[in-house]
Amino acid sequence: MHEFSFAYDIFKVAEATALKYNAKKITEVYLEIGELTLIVPELLKKSFEMATSGSIAEGAELIIELTPGKIKCRNCNKISNVTLSEESYLTGLQLFQCQHCKSKDTEIVEGKKANVKNIKIQE
Ligand SMILES: [Zn+2]
Repeated sequence: MHEFSFAYDIFKVAEATALKYNAKKITEVYLEIGELTLIVPELLKKSFEMATSGSIAEGAELIIELTPGKIKCRNCNKISNVTLSEESYLTGLQLFQCQHCKSKDTEIVEGKKANVKNIKIQE
């Protein structure tokens, strides 16, 4: 239940922000999610609904923006864009190949983070 704990964290961040502004209701939550987080947007939306049930954020719409994954090659130092294969969704295994020199000695530089960008509230 990767998505559920993440949905709960999002809710906590949104709730803390809303309380700071004395909001009565959260209507929209904007999220930025790196493709390589292995988070499935549809599952996340469902989990968010569950996590916010009966709260200030009940019924809030979750707007998800996926940011692409990027890797840096340790061999040639170039950056490549990567996307997850279906296999990595199933196995959680992520091995990325440099698109320039085909080396597999790479590190992820972008796409592993997820954060709340903005929320919309009713005062
Ligand atoms: Zn390379």
